[in-house]
Amino acid sequence: MLKIGLTGGIGSGKTTVAKIFKILGIPVFDADTAAKDLMNNNEELKRKIREEFGEEVYQNGILNRKYLAEIVFNDAYKLEKLNVLVHPITIQAGIDWAAKQNAKYVIKEAALMFEAGSAFNLDYIIGVFAPTDLRIARVMQRDGITKEQVVARMENQIDERIKNKLCDFVIDNDENSLLTSKINDINKKISALTQ
Ligand code: ATP
Repeated sequence: MLKIGLTGGIGSGKTTVAKIFKILGIPVFDADTAAKDLMNNNEELKRKIREEFGEEVYQNGILNRKYLAEIVFNDAYKLEKLNVLVHPITIQAGIDWAAKQNAKYVIKEAALMFEAGSAFNLDYIIGVFAPTDLRIARVMQRDGITKEQVVARMENQIDERIKNKLCDFVIDNDENSLLTSKINDINKKISALTQ
């Protein structure tokens, strides 16, 4: 069974692409959702996050994401501290999940695939790309945040040109051409690789 990574910068359209792969019957692990789930439910991780960021980071046991985002997206050192706590346990959750799947290939979706070092155990990587202005507009609309907030998050992600070179398959999600046909094409190519 092949393990395929699906990555792309904030607002590139990873989750949109992942939904289409799911419709095609491909199991998808969403690392960002898994990380949020672990931050809310894994007691050991919660204890470490409290120790690092203070008691206020949880309200009635639920992660106060806005509070945490304010801290880490304005302080690269704090962001690194959070990543060191969250990434390894999330990568392990993805490995455990893949071991339970029965499919010709599975997809692991993660925004910070290269940054988190999780590309190492994947066979191929799909990258989703879109123009920066379009990505900013999408995220402002989706999350109701300012341009400055989107740009601050973008600055924590590796350069798009470098990411493009690291990917085996590239999807341009610029809204000028049909996304589904590009995904169909990649699905066929990956399926052929599993023969
Ligand atoms: P993040 O890293 O922030 O989670 P993402 O890469 O997963 O972002 P999506 O959530 O898939 O991106 O897309 C961002 C927004 O743009 C969503 O509201 C989505 O509906 C919209 N969007 C993505 N691709 C397209 C498209 N081809 N046409 C129209 N809207 C799109």
